[in-house]
Amino acid sequence: MNNINRITTISFDGDMTLWDFNKVMRHSLAVTLEELRRQLPGKSTSELTIEKMIATRNEVAEELEDKTINLEEIRLQAFNRTLDAVGYKNDRLAIHLNNLYLKHRFEDIELYPDVLTTLHTLRKDYRLGLISNGNGYPEKCGLPDFFSFVIFSQDVGIKKPNPEIFSMACKKANCLNTELLHIGDSLESDVQGANAAGVLSAWLNRDGLAKSSKIQPAFEIQSLNEISEILKYK
Ligand SMILES: [Mg+2]
Repeated sequence: MNNINRITTISFDGDMTLWDFNKVMRHSLAVTLEELRRQLPGKSTSELTIEKMIATRNEVAEELEDKTINLEEIRLQAFNRTLDAVGYKNDRLAIHLNNLYLKHRFEDIELYPDVLTTLHTLRKDYRLGLISNGNGYPEKCGLPDFFSFVIFSQDVGIKKPNPEIFSMACKKANCLNTELLHIGDSLESDVQGANAAGVLSAWLNRDGLAKSSKIQPAFEIQSLNEISEILKYK
């Protein structure tokens, strides 16, 4: 059986686990696109779409995969390329758009409704942390005081599912790998990585999707409210 009785520490993934990243990303791109059209009215910007901006960003991220994984830098370079594509290369405007994007990307983020109650409950008995491949800084996302350790892959140079990032988290939290429960929405990044590190994994499957992979979580939950239930069986 699972060693749930050993758990002293709980780590969370950020994007799509604590907040809906896709929603705030699209919303922030929409605001940015509106600003771009205001500054550069014309055919090329009116034909630009959020989908194209996302594709450009992903293209840039792929090209920079080995060089940098600072997500704000990737986003800035994506705005540069987008401006190039609409025929108006301008570094200052790219910086302006990037700042506007980042402002909304942080200020308008919405936590899922089960996040605050869960964190309030769990913090009484467990050390809590964040392990993220993204850049959702907790203090900018309405969660300033909950986490005693925070690890961003862009800071440490390795990404989930690399098991090393989970071991780093355990070191920071001063716990054994077997004392950590990691919760995340991705079977590939969160569950597979935690499993490989000897960390107990819980797959957050908010939409009740059929499991499309052989990766096996120790627990499957549909809401963060279920974590307390799991821990009750200590
Ligand atoms: Mg995620």
